[in-house]
Amino acid sequence: MKSLLESLREAEGQRVALGHFNVSELTVLKAVTGVGARMGVPVILGVSEGERAYLGVREIAALVDCIRQGSNAPIYLDADHTHNLSGVQEAARAGFDMIVFDASELALEENIARTREAVEAAKAIRETILVEGEIGFIGSGSQIHQERTAPAVLTDPETARQFTEATGVDILAPALGTMHGMLRAMVAGTLRKRVDALRVAEIKAATGKFLTLHGGSGTADDDFRKAIAAGVNIVHINTEVRLAWRRGIEAALVAHPEEIVPYKLLLAGQAPVEQVVCSRLALFNSRSEPNTTSNVA
Ligand SMILES: [Zn+2]
Repeated sequence: MKSLLESLREAEGQRVALGHFNVSELTVLKAVTGVGARMGVPVILGVSEGERAYLGVREIAALVDCIRQGSNAPIYLDADHTHNLSGVQEAARAGFDMIVFDASELALEENIARTREAVEAAKAIRETILVEGEIGFIGSGSQIHQERTAPAVLTDPETARQFTEATGVDILAPALGTMHGMLRAMVAGTLRKRVDALRVAEIKAATGKFLTLHGGSGTADDDFRKAIAAGVNIVHINTEVRLAWRRGIEAALVAHPEEIVPYKLLLAGQAPVEQVVCSRLALFNSRSEPNTTSNVA
């Protein structure tokens, strides 16, 4: 299997992005890896601290390793939003391909110091593991919000450059206009998130790093295209997947009130999740025309 670094370089060259989907049980895991294999494109499976606590760090790594051996497309595993060094070390030892280290709630200087420590700790265990750092506010959790919790403040390109140089991260997640979770109006489809593609290009030019867009659920398709053309290499989709999963299983519970076989009920969540994953991977992997606003080679 190609390394994540190789897949990211390929994506960068082709101006496409890797889809990142969080998993906490088998239905979504099977849906994401199955769709990736059918489409022949790489996927990144993310497990947050909460998801890791539920699944087990070594357990999910073993399961993903087993699935990837039978797959014709690369499957990568990410320790999503890791907040402490022991979490970093545990994931690195378990064989994760990447770690999202998130100290973005701290002041910049402290974020830099903590992230640098995390990069060193991860690479001391496995030199090839990739570490992503976070700057700026993207909000927390993937719940459905009643209203916007904070205004969108975009990451400053110069701050991004300073952060990546001081920390040695391989990948950067700046604030680009999206937020974690979705507003009710986004779930209803009457409002879409927007991404500032010009800011993506500026941060790309300033840092030369791979860029991740968090909180991609509910974003306008055309904004994704422009952001990817401008230099976004990984896109996180979580809330849309969770919504599809819940709706599928809820419908099955209502339709089959006597059913008690867990896998039959859980399977009802798989097709709706596959639809979301398929539509997002098709969008992220469709090559667009070079963006004239970007001067990044
Ligand atoms: Zn995130």
